[in-house]
Amino acid sequence: MSNRNTKVQNQHQSPAFAKPLLPAVFSISSKVCPICKTEKDLSNFGKYFSKERQKYRVQNYCKSCEKSEKKRRSAEYYEANKEARKQYQKEHRANPNNKEKLKAVSQKFKIKYREELQDCYVRDRLTQDNKIPNYVSRELPEIVEAKRLQIKIKRKIKSLNNGKK
Ligand SMILES: [Zn+2]
Repeated sequence: MSNRNTKVQNQHQSPAFAKPLLPAVFSISSKVCPICKTEKDLSNFGKYFSKERQKYRVQNYCKSCEKSEKKRRSAEYYEANKEARKQYQKEHRANPNNKEKLKAVSQKFKIKYREELQDCYVRDRLTQDNKIPNYVSRELPEIVEAKRLQIKIKRKIKSLNNGKK
């Protein structure tokens, strides 16, 4: 117990731990969000601790605008980097130094999809065994489900037969 008290005492002195000790008190109770231009109660705004000012501050945008802003920004980033990412992936695949590694990864995933009977594997089996192309089975989840069950039964029977031998 005394050990713990010493630790807490140290936390009080360390500026890194000053954050939880300061109460989040604000002089305002509402704020106008610059995006939706709506005056909202402070509970609708995120709060963060400013190390620089050593006090809590209110986020600029309200929580819901903050959320959509984040989404918009990441979509924008994704879009802006689309071509560069494609180019990088293309070069990465074309680089002979990565050939073995890529092959191993693809093999690993193939095994995983097969073992777990994932949709992509089951759909491939539908194409191979039943001549049902991917674009058809994609629209018919019940067929994929039935095929999955069929493969499961076949596997079960196989494992039972192996057990007998
Ligand atoms: Zn807003």
